[in-house]
Amino acid sequence: MSPPASPLAKPPLAGVIRVLPVLLLVPAVLGVYAAMVAVDRASEAAGRARGREYVVRLPLPAAGGQIGLPPIAGPLDASRPLVVIDAGHGGHDPGAGTGAVREKDVTLALAAALRSRLLADGGIRVALTRSDDRYLMLAERAGIARRLNADLFISVHADSAENTAASGATVYTLSDRGSNEAAARLAAAENRADSVNGVRLTEQSDTVSAILVDLSQRETAAKSQDFAQLMLREGAGRLHFRERGLQSAAFVVLKSADLPSVLFEAGYISNPEDEAALTSAEGRDTFASVAARAIRIYFARQLAG
Ligand SMILES: [Zn+2]
Repeated sequence: MSPPASPLAKPPLAGVIRVLPVLLLVPAVLGVYAAMVAVDRASEAAGRARGREYVVRLPLPAAGGQIGLPPIAGPLDASRPLVVIDAGHGGHDPGAGTGAVREKDVTLALAAALRSRLLADGGIRVALTRSDDRYLMLAERAGIARRLNADLFISVHADSAENTAASGATVYTLSDRGSNEAAARLAAAENRADSVNGVRLTEQSDTVSAILVDLSQRETAAKSQDFAQLMLREGAGRLHFRERGLQSAAFVVLKSADLPSVLFEAGYISNPEDEAALTSAEGRDTFASVAARAIRIYFARQLAG
């Protein structure tokens, strides 16, 4: 008696038919890509032909692609805490300021000063989202920190107002409303491949995913709040804060469910005293020293807790 035919042993033709759509897809994708490149070149040539020399090229990542990660400085020991400092704006986006002082330059100088201070004191790993005058999309900034597995994210900004009397720094955390949006976004089906605090959401049911995101986000909010308070405490008497020095708002750059984040508005470049502090080596040193102390105390608490 011959053995029954294995259900796996299908005629070879059936296998070819199953693979056929995939085989057809490959040249289709390549074709679309080639067409995009051709259109890009043609529009550039057309721009030149019309005497336009101002074709703006932005370093946007390809669809689904990721920009390169910046280097991490400091101890090689990966168990040391990592802080990612984000200098706001850059490239074609100058940020606030209409005169000679531009926010993008102020933020880069402050970020560099804080990085130097942290590295000089040792023990903490540091990365900058940008170390030169380049444009980064908001989502990329926190994205860099997440991909580096950062423990703390600080986005540095400076403000400007028509009223030159407006002055002082403000520490912002993400508002509740923003937090809920982020939770919804993270729990969305298309983000299932993401992980929160090392737990891969793909392995969880919908309900468990939602609870994990919520718990993680509350913990993240508490940590962000803790760091923001430390900035105020360490800066008291050294930095000039606004009356309400701690506020919350739905900043896109702060919307990470599992990364403690604050946005530091360092002061008003439209105010003469603030501007002097923001653009002087002394003012930068004071900011760097205050922020570095706050960061050190924050990580010490995290390790102790
Ligand atoms: Zn800004």
